[in-house]
Amino acid sequence: MLGLMQDWPLLVHTILDHASQWHGTREIVSRRVEGDIARMTYRDLDHRARALASAAQGRLGLKLGDVVCTMSWNGYRHMETWYGIMGLGCIVHTLNPRLFADQLVYVINHGEGKWVFLDLTFVPVLEAVQDKLPKVKGFVVMIDGEHMPQTSLKNVVTYEELIGQGDTAFAWPGFDENTACGMCYTSGTTGNPKGVVYSHRSNVLHALVSSGGDALCMASKDVWMPVVPMFHANAWSLAFSVPLSGAKMVMPGPRMDGEAIYELLDTEKVTATAAVPTVWLMLLQYLEQNPDLKLPHLEKVVIGGSACPEAMMKAFEDKYDTRVIHAWGMTEMSPLGSLGTRKGGLEHLSDDEWWKVKLKQGRPAYSVEMKITDDEGKDLPHDGKVFGRLKVRGPAIAKSYAKGDGADAFDAEGWFDTGDVATLDEYGYMQITDRSKDVIKSGGEWISSIDLENAAVGCPGVAEAAAIGMPHPKWDERPLLVIVKKKGAEVTKDAVLQHLEGKIAKWWMPDDVAFVDEIPHTATGKISKLTLREQFKDYVLPTAQ
Ligand code: ADP
Repeated sequence: MLGLMQDWPLLVHTILDHASQWHGTREIVSRRVEGDIARMTYRDLDHRARALASAAQGRLGLKLGDVVCTMSWNGYRHMETWYGIMGLGCIVHTLNPRLFADQLVYVINHGEGKWVFLDLTFVPVLEAVQDKLPKVKGFVVMIDGEHMPQTSLKNVVTYEELIGQGDTAFAWPGFDENTACGMCYTSGTTGNPKGVVYSHRSNVLHALVSSGGDALCMASKDVWMPVVPMFHANAWSLAFSVPLSGAKMVMPGPRMDGEAIYELLDTEKVTATAAVPTVWLMLLQYLEQNPDLKLPHLEKVVIGGSACPEAMMKAFEDKYDTRVIHAWGMTEMSPLGSLGTRKGGLEHLSDDEWWKVKLKQGRPAYSVEMKITDDEGKDLPHDGKVFGRLKVRGPAIAKSYAKGDGADAFDAEGWFDTGDVATLDEYGYMQITDRSKDVIKSGGEWISSIDLENAAVGCPGVAEAAAIGMPHPKWDERPLLVIVKKKGAEVTKDAVLQHLEGKIAKWWMPDDVAFVDEIPHTATGKISKLTLREQFKDYVLPTAQ
């Protein structure tokens, strides 16, 4: 017997419908590429997204299943494009502007993008590659006529003119909830980037789960600032979950430096925000340089994408009274996989005990199944010590990549091998030990590069640290610690090693410390171990000479 409930397809435009109807006057505040701050409401966003959809259908000729690329900062125009294009049953493929030209051309062509919507900032980027994009029919520059530049882009349309031709009361067409609506390529530390394709259903389910009380704990009274760009991993779902909750939205646009982020946190009274550690490093440094500044409105900050160092968590919690939620996820997981919120039943833990758990990557929310296995696929115990391959499955987790790429990451039972190595403890909290290709293999044992880095950034004067395995005749690999000093700070190798003593196992102690001006980052702001290894390819450890 089937249930007798209404068959209400989980389409993402229903999120905007809800925000517009019941939270219609809540604001979306955006820093624009024009340099000013723009204000609008969910009701305006709804009308403009509909106008965009109707004009895109008429003038751009978009049809169900067409892919539209966006290269845009976080702002209301990107949100309108997001909902307008998805609402038509078309697919928004978010392009990361930090990709190299070759990768950019690859992902646009591989994803079969028909139109590219771009911010003013990126006109030169697309001018330079347009001749290598045979399937792209034209470009929409997300600006008004007054600011429209001279450009060699072919078949170019001005965004505000396009919207001006649309119908603000356009009715969304209906289609199956499993229809594709979003596309995001993983940055591909090895081989070509691989395409992840989200459906309306997966995005609605993920938004419901991630906004929940034990996850991001969202409410309409909140003021959320998604600093994580919409082109990173499905915007961590915030482009869906924030409107779904009816919270006010603050969008930082092109400026993610400490000063600009602080200004919006302060003037817009932001209560919750989310981004990778690199962004928070910039904010905390700015606050350190301006000791009178505080964060009186900010209640919580979500940190993920890379491991959140203890020093960063302590700075937010102890110095600024802001709660940190450490989150782990992947583009392939929509992306949230686990969050470090305190579980009921753990009240008995002392502050010190809880702090150790809190530093981990958290526990899975409903809809994420998780396990660790050995190389043969045998389940490993949840004792917080044994580590193995982290595998996941669920309704908002990829079942394959676009065009069947990377099929070996998925097994016959639907488990996706994350490529991460992790432990699971007795309470169900997961801790990432490393990416499987970054663990340092010393004498048959594994050293976690993440643990070394986290311990090192706690050392006074250290701004950023990266640990990589260097060849060693006896041990196979031994750790080299690469460090960027804080501006004007004096730090020595001995001081760093002394700081690590007692914080890591003796045999994990780096064989050498190298100081550099800058550590290379990937397009998603993570330390690029690949580039770093390349930079140090001729380096020989003193212990290996
Ligand atoms: P990309 O690979 O393109 O950078 P993802 O954002 O999908 O894109 O990267 C996911 C990976 O980032 C995870 O597999 C994991 O290795 C790492 N990661 C994400 N969050 C954390 C975290 N909180 N701690 C440690 N590593 C993390």
